[in-house]
Amino acid sequence: MKKIQMVDLKGQYEQIKERVDSSILDVISSAAFINGPEVHSFQKELEEYLDVKHVIPCANGTDALQIAMMGLGLKPGDEVITADFTFAATVEVIALLQLTPVLVDVEKDSFNIDPDAIRKAITPNTKAIVPVHLFGQAANMDEIMSIAKEHDLYVIEDNAQGIGGSYKFNNGKVAKTGTIGHVSSTSFFPSKNLGCYGDGGAIFTNDDDLAHTIRGIVNHGMYKRYHHDVVGVNSRLDSIQATVLRAKLPNLDTYNDARRSAARKYNKAFEGIKNIITPRVKGNNCETQENIICDTCNCHVFHQYTLRVENVDRDALVKYLNDQGIPCGVYYPIPLHNQKAYQDDRYDESNFTITNQLVKEVISLPMHTELDEEQINFITKNVIDFVTK
Ligand SMILES: *Cc1c(COP(=O)(O)O)cnc(C)c1O
Repeated sequence: MKKIQMVDLKGQYEQIKERVDSSILDVISSAAFINGPEVHSFQKELEEYLDVKHVIPCANGTDALQIAMMGLGLKPGDEVITADFTFAATVEVIALLQLTPVLVDVEKDSFNIDPDAIRKAITPNTKAIVPVHLFGQAANMDEIMSIAKEHDLYVIEDNAQGIGGSYKFNNGKVAKTGTIGHVSSTSFFPSKNLGCYGDGGAIFTNDDDLAHTIRGIVNHGMYKRYHHDVVGVNSRLDSIQATVLRAKLPNLDTYNDARRSAARKYNKAFEGIKNIITPRVKGNNCETQENIICDTCNCHVFHQYTLRVENVDRDALVKYLNDQGIPCGVYYPIPLHNQKAYQDDRYDESNFTITNQLVKEVISLPMHTELDEEQINFITKNVIDFVTK
């Protein structure tokens, strides 16, 4: 059996090696390292793939979120509601811009921000909601967009883990994640579903004026050379990363299919095993009604395959798997509202019952495009051995 890895970037590279190697060499010999034609072509291709009017490439997914918020003109003291259960980048940029992060609880089954919790957290100072499509499954965008409309709030989708996924609205309409809110961000960090060979990110929007504002912000606030109209940042995608992304983008759907196929095999192996709760794919947005990972839609792109374990010592399970040569992860072990940097006296523990529970129960198994049947069987056997012993 091949050594099991949490993320296998090498196997994926082998399949696109020729194109990647030659196009990287082309970039080097063209010497158009920044804002070269490769970046422009990638931008166009991603706009087409997502069916969104504007893609603005930038340096990483954290910058993308920050720039999206700057572009919307959010001001210090404005409150921004986001999930307590996500990667810290989401709340970090809110705090960095001196906006006020308002963390709220998530849903136990989807791990995504809970619309009822958003409603309860709205005050006259609330200006935006940041749903994160956690682990590759879209948040409840029907509810979130309707709350935003009712209260005149911006929606900024953090799509770092959801690229290539779709959301099916209650009315049957389908849209790619990252094209639903007013503006969205994504990350091309190597381990993401569409990853480059360094850092990279992008902002998406259908709003022409906002796109124009953001294009200036990513480039020192310049709309005309050496005329700095707004305070900007330096955040660019370089041509070498763009050329890698151009090689991978045509395969993104196939990559996500491979992830879903691995998830389906995991689910099947864990069926009926006591104390293991497999990830819930929300039926209302899917062709199928129940917790089935269907072939016909893209409702989950499995950036992570995350189980919950009940009545099991999760940390002991992690250690046991590691000892068998199976890497795994705990995303995320501490709720953001309990992180030193983001503690706030206004938070009441009783409002975070789900996150407080999830941090003790979640475990993410190896998930990437190169997992084979033998590896999955070995992983599931060991998980089952431990929880049923
Ligand atoms: C990875 C990630 C980010 C940050 O992206 P970087 O490119 O690493 O800056 C932001 N939000 C979420 C949910 C992420 O998973």
